[in-house]
Amino acid sequence: MCGIVGILGSGPVAGHLIDALKRLEYRGYDSAGIATLDHGQLARRRAEGKLQALATRLEKEPLAGKIGIGHTRWATHGRPTENNAHPHTTDRVAVVHNGIIENFRALREKLIKDGAKFGSETDTEVVAHLVTAEMKQGKSPADAVAATLKQLRGAFALAFLFTGEDDLMIGARKGSPLAIGYGNGEMFLGSDAIALAPFTDTISYLEDGDWVVLTRKSVAIYDEQGKSVE
Ligand code: GLU
Repeated sequence: MCGIVGILGSGPVAGHLIDALKRLEYRGYDSAGIATLDHGQLARRRAEGKLQALATRLEKEPLAGKIGIGHTRWATHGRPTENNAHPHTTDRVAVVHNGIIENFRALREKLIKDGAKFGSETDTEVVAHLVTAEMKQGKSPADAVAATLKQLRGAFALAFLFTGEDDLMIGARKGSPLAIGYGNGEMFLGSDAIALAPFTDTISYLEDGDWVVLTRKSVAIYDEQGKSVE
């Protein structure tokens, strides 16, 4: 089981994402990556092997941005290469994923028929393309994620960023754990409380099937039916 972190921060987040991922190293992983939004534009860095390789890459090619997601991968579908490392992105969305999308083959075939171009061998990448397809039909990010979650079978914790949305992060869980960390004008997502310990001691865990829409000042949690929950 690998790791997910997300930070809606008040300052640059790339360094904090790496620190949080280091706290999840105990889970094991084969590659890592982060994505941030800078002035609305998604950018990412990924690397095979240890987090130090990603940190070295970031020293040479820094990532600005006050919002970001990070991932340590334990490959289940596709080799442990940089290309298969998360985040997976389209022009609209970046996603990190823990777990397995069991029905990815059928979803991938349909998406390719509809014109999606895949850049990895992972099961995860279908999630990025599904959300993108829903958004291209005019759905908001939250509605696009809700429509996508209904199509997924398997186990997952997911975190999403959206092009042009500097104050929005969406998380979801089914099978794999995901925690929300509440900061002061900041919000966090993490696979567990240990990842978030340096940032906040106010944590809540999503219940199975729940998904959450975060801004720096708000948390809205929904169940599988889209009903708002406490
Ligand atoms: N199934 C995904 C992959 O192979 C995620 C694996 C993980 O949980 O790290 O890329």
